[in-house]
Amino acid sequence: MSDVENTETLTCGVCRKTGSFTAPVSVILVFAPGMAKPYPLIPAEDYRVCGACDAIFTLVNRAVEAHPTTRSAGPWTRAIVVFSDGHGVDVKAKRQGQQVAMA
Ligand SMILES: [Zn+2]
Repeated sequence: MSDVENTETLTCGVCRKTGSFTAPVSVILVFAPGMAKPYPLIPAEDYRVCGACDAIFTLVNRAVEAHPTTRSAGPWTRAIVVFSDGHGVDVKAKRQGQQVAMA
């Protein structure tokens, strides 16, 4: 009876907004020129991302940097982030004018 919903009070470290977080990330499919096939990265713990800003790029960058396979494959060009609620976000890496398409 004492379950506290901590996840409802997450604050984005980038834009400081609350309440715009996605469901936990299930898998991040990383596309990079150095890999023949997209590489699936699975977060070790629940990771929610702010949907109100570019925080998802930080998520992908961190995930790619954290894994030797994707790190050595060179800069990622695209990532598909799939959440535990079944939604997915297709993220295209652009050096400027970055866009996030919600699917
Ligand atoms: Zn944010």
